[in-house]
Amino acid sequence: MVMGATHAVSGAVAGLLAAQVLPPEWGGPTSTAEVFTFAGVCAGAALLPDLDTAQSTVARSFGPVSQLVARGVDEVSLWYYRLTRGRRDPKRRGGHRTLTHTALFAIALSAGISALVIEFGRPAIIGTLFVTLGLALRGLAGSWAARNGWIAVTVVAAALSAFTWTWYPDEVGSRALGVAVGLGCAVHCLGDAITKEGVPFLAPLLPWGRRRWWELRLPSMLSIRAGGTVERVVLGPLLTLVAVGLAIWAIDGVPGAVTEVVAEIRAWG
Ligand SMILES: [Zn+2]
Repeated sequence: MVMGATHAVSGAVAGLLAAQVLPPEWGGPTSTAEVFTFAGVCAGAALLPDLDTAQSTVARSFGPVSQLVARGVDEVSLWYYRLTRGRRDPKRRGGHRTLTHTALFAIALSAGISALVIEFGRPAIIGTLFVTLGLALRGLAGSWAARNGWIAVTVVAAALSAFTWTWYPDEVGSRALGVAVGLGCAVHCLGDAITKEGVPFLAPLLPWGRRRWWELRLPSMLSIRAGGTVERVVLGPLLTLVAVGLAIWAIDGVPGAVTEVVAEIRAWG
């Protein structure tokens, strides 16, 4: 698997880009605060699929609670894999990188969260913010999280989600939380798909030969080694740079100011 930080930063980039193009009727963010919330949720959700094994760093985000959840998700994923396995799919002993690493899961979770937000409003919004922002902390501030432990992560995530909610109480915008979560999960799978191991993104709907859980991956020449040099020296810094650029661009007034400066320079020329 690609490193947690890479997943989180690519989630932030996807969130910042989507925030620019998603129409407001679909819950597309309309203010700087909404853009950042959308991107933060997306960044955290980009770690969510790895909550399918108690071994992952992500599973330690909320201490024993998230580890217990991860163990449960692992069991359910394995059960689901066995239920839908094609004849040629190998036998498995764990559920990691199956159910939660599919397009179907991203879509179902997205729809589920949107439905919860519409049905229950505030508690569903705060719950989604709490989990995803906590994961985002784990991914984007990994060394801080490792140094201070899961209790600190939980406390800061709780404070952030309460704060964000009061800051961002817009009804329509809140419905976009489901979209942000689904997008984050899909971006996670894309990240895993460029590694040597690949990811069964289209399982179990699209059989290939006698396999339902075949891995989507790049040709071996193009695929990267998880945690390897390409990821640490090229991909990570590049994605971070893009994320910072997009974040600055998202601040109210910046695009207008840039356009003005460009016009000014043109007038001088
Ligand atoms: Zn993964």
